Amino acid sequence: MKKLIFVLCLMSNLAFASNKIYIDENELDRRDCYYHIHTGGNIWIETKMIMMNPTGLYTYDRHIVKEGNISEYERKWKCPYCHQYWKVGQSCQNKDCPSKYK
Ligand SMILES: [Zn+2]
Repeated sequence: MKKLIFVLCLMSNLAFASNKIYIDENELDRRDCYYHIHTGGNIWIETKMIMMNPTGLYTYDRHIVKEGNISEYERKWKCPYCHQYWKVGQSCQNKDCPSKYK
């Protein structure tokens, strides 16, 4: 019985580890060590790591920045003026942003 539980744990860990998310290269913004992925409607999520295999670019669920301790992805929007990313609901905080002078 103990052995079975161990095997089940191992299997669920493997399933989690292989939670690959493929990324469309056109929806990816690479800058320094940040990777932002466009999910549509100017909503972006950030991942810490991008890898590549013959199928294309991918990341793992565990590398995507989450909102606090909950498992939801942290969603950001991209300022059309200064191209910086901000949390959804937060206005652009860049004091040099050209949008402030309009
Ligand atoms: Zn801005």
